[in-house]
Amino acid sequence: MSSLLTTTCTVCGSVEVPVERAVLRVGAEAGDSVCVMRCPDCGRRIERVANELMADALLLLGISVSSWAGPRPTEVSAPIDGAEVEQFRQIIGHEPDPLRWL
Ligand SMILES: [Zn+2]
Repeated sequence: MSSLLTTTCTVCGSVEVPVERAVLRVGAEAGDSVCVMRCPDCGRRIERVANELMADALLLLGISVSSWAGPRPTEVSAPIDGAEVEQFRQIIGHEPDPLRWL
C-alpha cells in the first residue's frame, strides 16, 4: 500500500505524491529537514520545510532520507501548514505514539 503525501504544487494546486517519490533531506541541525517531492502532474520540484513532527510522520510512512549535499538551497517554500500536519496525523492515526519508534 502506498501512502500519499498531500502537498501544494505552485502550478497544479493540491496534489498527492506517493511517499516513494518523496525524499526527506535532513540538515545538520535539528528542525532543518526539508521534504523534497516532485509534482506527479507537471514534474515541478516541491520543497517543504518539515518540522520535527512532520519528519517523524514522514519517516513512519517510509520516506527515503538523504543528507544535505552541497550548499543549502536558497529558496524553500513556506513551511508545511497546520492543515497538512493534520492530514498526516490522520494517516498515522493508527499509531498513537510515533516517538516510540525513535
Ligand atoms: Zn504541478
